[in-house]
Amino acid sequence: MELRDDLSPFEAVNYFFLKAAAIDDLSDAAIAVLGGTYRELRVQVPVRRDDGSLDVFIGYRVQHNGARGPYKGGIRYHPKADLEEVRALASLMTWKTALVNIPFGGAKGGIQVDPSDMSRAELERMSRRYFTQIGHIIGPNRDIPAPDMNTNAQIMSWFMDEYGRRHGHTTQIVTGKPVALGGSLGREAATGRGCVDVMNEACRDAGLGPPEELTVVIQGFGNVGSWAARIAAEQGYKVIAVSDVKGGIVDERGLDIPALLKYVDESGTVVDFPGSETITNDQLLGLTCDVLMPAALGEVITHRNVEQIDTKIVIEAANHPVTPVADAALFERGVVVVPDILANAGGVTVSYFEWVQNNQEIAWDEDDVNSRLAARLRTAYSQCREFQGANGGISLREAAFALAVNRVVEAATLRGYL
Ligand code: NAD
Repeated sequence: MELRDDLSPFEAVNYFFLKAAAIDDLSDAAIAVLGGTYRELRVQVPVRRDDGSLDVFIGYRVQHNGARGPYKGGIRYHPKADLEEVRALASLMTWKTALVNIPFGGAKGGIQVDPSDMSRAELERMSRRYFTQIGHIIGPNRDIPAPDMNTNAQIMSWFMDEYGRRHGHTTQIVTGKPVALGGSLGREAATGRGCVDVMNEACRDAGLGPPEELTVVIQGFGNVGSWAARIAAEQGYKVIAVSDVKGGIVDERGLDIPALLKYVDESGTVVDFPGSETITNDQLLGLTCDVLMPAALGEVITHRNVEQIDTKIVIEAANHPVTPVADAALFERGVVVVPDILANAGGVTVSYFEWVQNNQEIAWDEDDVNSRLAARLRTAYSQCREFQGANGGISLREAAFALAVNRVVEAATLRGYL
């Protein structure tokens, strides 16, 4: 595929897939199967508003590939969650689950909606309706959703309850649940924690450190960004800037993250945090730092701003935050990019742990979860580095995709459909 700056999100992920396909010497048949999606469901989601009016939203569930196990992937509520974006995110899940070697395939779901002006009751009605509409293609050994942007443990509880009304109590139908309903200890923090785990590895490999000497900039202060900031700060990193949808803040001395978390709890935003300077999200991405961690939306580092990026390492906490053109430019400049399918795989890894605990009806303690998570990510990271070393001149992303694609092809071939 030609490298262009106007690739759609799914084309962009497939750009990386096709590079891996060339490294792995895949057949045309394998490229045809894995370059597309297995199943795409589009559903109407009518929602009764509190004032009695009816709004109709469109929801999706896309299952990309299930060769290695049940489909797995989050559900996001966002105005940009259209079919092309959901396809891209579903395919990333196939490669992510394969890379960290957990027995799942890849899927993703979404409702194209801005939930910020919805009441709790409207959000609950919409969530329950959507889950019913996609109910015939999900199941605890079929397709297991989880949280993503603008969805959380409360929404997972409604999903589980809705499914249980038809099929009987089934904790394994979703992950990312509250601990009181069978959620795993450590799941809420897992994606951010995993980002810090791989950041430690990447900094060590790049000869950077110790953490006290390293500056970190994080875009997004939701589940992933805020946990990454908290854990990075606990480990001694200087988190100098963070942002959310309303804007960003910077303090070159390092932000007081525990105080910021308290401030965000009360004010709903990071903006105007006492002692910090206000900046825009665009300015935040261009700050000079050692590690830049986009942890909000996709496609935030593009051909438009890649020249302004002034970091040594990019940790892709968000899904698909760097477009292929920008990725090539960063590689050219020697900036290390730890790709999303490795950097943010902590969430799905602990989702897998949650599913295992639910299946066995036991609960692991948090230290056990965190150490198993760190071990999985360290293994995946070192396998990528080894593959990169053995195939001189390729990026960490190319290594990660090539490894993941190989594993999916092997499973599909053994099952007899490739
Ligand atoms: P979230 O909804 O909890 O938080 C999103 C954050 O991004 C919020 O702080 C929000 O204000 C900010 N944001 C939204 N629009 C923005 C904009 N235009 N500019 C700057 N900031 C903006 O979502 P999350 O679960 O933290 O997910 C963040 C990213 O991480 C997504 O790309 C998601 O796909 C990815 N991810 C999440 C998980 C998970 O376990 N939650 C796992 C893997 C990957």
